[in-house]
Amino acid sequence: MRKIFSTLFVLTLSLMLFASGNLYADGLKVYISVDMEGVAGVVHGDQVSAGGSDYSLARRWTTEEANAAIEGALEAGATEIVVNDSHGSMRNIIASDLHPEARLITGSPKPLSMMEGIDETFDAIIFIGYHARAGSIDGVLDHTYSGASVYSVKVNGVELGEGEMNALVGGYYGVPVAMIAGDEEACRQARETLGDQIVTAEVKKGIGRYAANTLVPSKAQELIKEKTRTSLEQLSDMEVFSLTSPYVFDIDFLRSCQAQGAELVPGVERSGPRSVNFTKDDLIDGFQMFRALLVLSR
Ligand SMILES: [Zn+2]
Repeated sequence: MRKIFSTLFVLTLSLMLFASGNLYADGLKVYISVDMEGVAGVVHGDQVSAGGSDYSLARRWTTEEANAAIEGALEAGATEIVVNDSHGSMRNIIASDLHPEARLITGSPKPLSMMEGIDETFDAIIFIGYHARAGSIDGVLDHTYSGASVYSVKVNGVELGEGEMNALVGGYYGVPVAMIAGDEEACRQARETLGDQIVTAEVKKGIGRYAANTLVPSKAQELIKEKTRTSLEQLSDMEVFSLTSPYVFDIDFLRSCQAQGAELVPGVERSGPRSVNFTKDDLIDGFQMFRALLVLSR
């Protein structure tokens, strides 16, 4: 008799799991995009360029900040975590040192770049190592997608940095940004554009573009873990960032020849010596056109 009951129990449990499709159907699914310029201790190109003298050290700090966010997410109840390496070659995170509970998206190019892997199945987005947009005061290593070509980029008249642009891509899939870690100016810009509900972890304060007053990595990682956990506990307060279709992209390049290259693409109009614009009904079409123009402008 006992054997019949235990067999029935196992059968029922298997059916329930099969029906839900997931052992942790109610757990959080968290997406983490990891850049490098906004990591604590980082202030110079030698730290963020493969081959740079301090690169191996900074990629370790970057991996540790990603781990801190993963630990915070696990404490908040995350059961699925995807980390996207989002800087430069997108091969910065040391795979063997990443927390084993996360999956890692590594390498480049990727269709959605810094947001590769995001879709409507995620509950929240976390940004680690993010920096201020091109043309910021006291923004450590400030730039927008391409330091070599972008002076500014606006969508529907709103100037966006990488954090805000990537939040828009997340918003397309209905996923809100819960937390951003980076320098003070990057965090301020994110709050200004995405709203005050977003939780921020200010790991350093820029002193111009190439210096900072920074938390040491271990302290920054404690802060990131704590802020990630609290942001996910407040997930119901988080807002999906969106603008209204059609999406008008205005790009100002650093040099006129870059606009000259971009205007060769059908649908792209030259709007000034260094400027082009284009309009797309679908945000992802617009995002991919923006990135294609950056490739052309190099
Ligand atoms: Zn970067």
